[in-house]
Amino acid sequence: MVLVDGRVISFTFINQFNMKRKLKIVLFLIALSVTGIIIFQGYWSFNAYKENKKLFETKIDEAMQRALDSCKRDYFDSIRTVLVKRLSESTTVIKIDSPSQINTAAVGGRSTFSIGPLVTPYAIWISVHGSKNSSPFQTSSKIYNYYRSKINHRNATVPEVLTEMSFYVPPLMTELIQDFFMYDGTNPPPAVRAYIEANYQKPGFKYPIEQSGIFEQPSNYKQADSLKIGNYLRAELAKIHINAPFAVNLASTPTASRSDHVFFSETNEYKYQYHGFTFLLTNYTLQPRYTLYARAAFRNPQYVVIKGMLITLSLSALLVLFTIFSFYYIIRIINQQKALGELKDDFINNMTHELKTPIATITVAIEGLQKFNALNDPEKTQRYLQTSRNELARLNELVSKVLDVAAFENKEITLVKERLKVDDLVNELIAVEKSKTEKALTITYNNNAGIDLVTADKLHFKNVMLNILDNAVKYSNEPAAINITLDKGNNMAVFTIKDNGIGIPAAHINRVFEKFYRVPTGNVHNVKGTGLGLNYVRYIVEAHGGLVAVKSELNVGSEFTVSIPL
Ligand code: ADP
Repeated sequence: MVLVDGRVISFTFINQFNMKRKLKIVLFLIALSVTGIIIFQGYWSFNAYKENKKLFETKIDEAMQRALDSCKRDYFDSIRTVLVKRLSESTTVIKIDSPSQINTAAVGGRSTFSIGPLVTPYAIWISVHGSKNSSPFQTSSKIYNYYRSKINHRNATVPEVLTEMSFYVPPLMTELIQDFFMYDGTNPPPAVRAYIEANYQKPGFKYPIEQSGIFEQPSNYKQADSLKIGNYLRAELAKIHINAPFAVNLASTPTASRSDHVFFSETNEYKYQYHGFTFLLTNYTLQPRYTLYARAAFRNPQYVVIKGMLITLSLSALLVLFTIFSFYYIIRIINQQKALGELKDDFINNMTHELKTPIATITVAIEGLQKFNALNDPEKTQRYLQTSRNELARLNELVSKVLDVAAFENKEITLVKERLKVDDLVNELIAVEKSKTEKALTITYNNNAGIDLVTADKLHFKNVMLNILDNAVKYSNEPAAINITLDKGNNMAVFTIKDNGIGIPAAHINRVFEKFYRVPTGNVHNVKGTGLGLNYVRYIVEAHGGLVAVKSELNVGSEFTVSIPL
C-alpha cells in the first residue's frame, strides 16, 4: 500500500471534515430531541399537576362540607340537650289530651299541626311556670309514635319525643321557643321585648335569661367557630390522608375566590350559622346578621398534590434521565469512534513514512549495484547489501509488529512459558539496544532482589522489554541514561526501566497504553512510531498475569514498571 503523501492527507482531511459536519448535525438533533422531551415532559407534568390539584380541591371541598355538617350536628345536639332538659324540669307541665278536651277557642289563631285524618288525635299542652296562655299543640298518636321511633333508645321520654319532633315540625319548635323564651336575649322580637319590658319586675318573672347567659352570642364566636370547623376539617382530611396546613376564614360578607393560583387552593364558600351553644332562633329562622361565610384556604397545596403524583413524576424523571443518559452514551461512543478514526489516520500516515523509508533505501542500494557497476567492488557490494539487509530487518520488524497486533486483537496469542535466566536475558537486550542506536547511550542494570529465573514466554517477553527500551532511547535526548532494576514485591519480579527523556504530559499518561495512541506533538513527528508498542506491552504482560505501569515527569524522564509473577 503505497500512498502519495498529498493524497493521504487530503483524503484524511475530507474524511474528518465530513465527520465533523455529520457529528455536528447529530449533536444538534440529539440536543433538539432531548430539549423537546424535557419540555414535553415538563408540560405534561404541569398539566397533570393541574388536574391533580383540581382533584385535591374537590376532595378538600367535600371534607369541608362534612366538617360543616359535623358543626351543624353539634349545634342541633346542643339545642336538643337544652330542650330536653327544659321540658323535663319540674316547672314544666306537659299534658296530653284527647281532642275532645281541646279548648278550640284557646287554639285561636295559633299554629296547629295536623296531617291527614287524625288517628287518635292528641292535643299537647305545655305549661311553663303554670302559665295559662300556652296553647295546645295538635298531633296524632301515629305521628307521635313515629318520632318516638326515630330516637335510638327504646325508653324515650315525652320531652325527648317532643324535642325530636320539634326539629321536624316548625310550629312545634315555634311553640317551644315561645314557651321557653328562647330568643336571643340581646335581640328579641319586638312583641317579646314589649312583653319582657312589661313583666320583668313582676315577682316570679324569670325570662329571658340575662344577657350574659348561655343564649348570648359569645363575643369570640368567630374564633371559636373557626377553631371548631378547623378541628372537624382536620379530622376529615386525616381520613383521606391529606395532611396539609390550612386556615379557616370566616367572613361576615361573601368574599371573592382567589383559587386560580397554582400554589393556592381553597374550598367553596359556605354559609355558616351554627354558633357554639347559642340559640339564635327567632321563629325558627336564623337572623341574617348571624350568618357567616366559611371557607378553608390551603397555602401550599403543591406538596400534597406532588406527593400524590410521586410515582408518575419519578417515573417520568427516570425516563428523561434514561434518555439523556442514552444520548450521552451515544455521543461518547461517537466521540470514541471519531478519536479512533483520527488515530487510524495518524497510524496510516506514520506507517506510510515508516514503510517508505526502508523501501526507498533498498531501491537506491539496488540501483547503485545495478547502475554503477558496484558488483566489481566487493567492499561496496557488501556495504550496499548490508544496508539493504538492515532495512529489510527493519521492515520485517515493522510488519511483524502490525501482524502481532492483528493477532492479539483476535486473541490468538498462545504463550510458551519457560524459565529464563534473567540476568543473561537483560544483558542480551541491552547489547541489542546499544547496537541499534547511534545515540550516545548508557544503560545500567541492577538485580537488587538477586532473582535468578523468571517464567515467561521468551520471544514476547523480550519484545516487551525491547519495546520499553526502544521508547526510552527514542524519547530521550543525548546522552540518554537508562537504568534497569529488578526487585521483588508481592511475589512478583518487578522490572523498572527508567530514562531521562522528554517525559509524558500528565494529560496523556493514562492513554499511552491504548492502541494507536501517541502523545500528540502537533503535526510534526520527529520520532517515528506506530502507537502500537505499549499496547502490545500491556497485552503481553497481562497475559502473563502481570501488571504494567508508568510514572513520568515532563522534561525529567519516565519510569515504566513491568511486574510478572514469579
Ligand atoms: P510509539 O510507536 O509511538 O512509540 P508506543 O505505544 O510505544 O508507540 O508509545 C506510545 C506513546 O507513548 C509514544 O508515542 C510516546 O509519545 C509515549 N512514550 C512511550 N514511552 C515513552 C518514554 N519513555 N518517554 C516519553 N514518552 C514515551
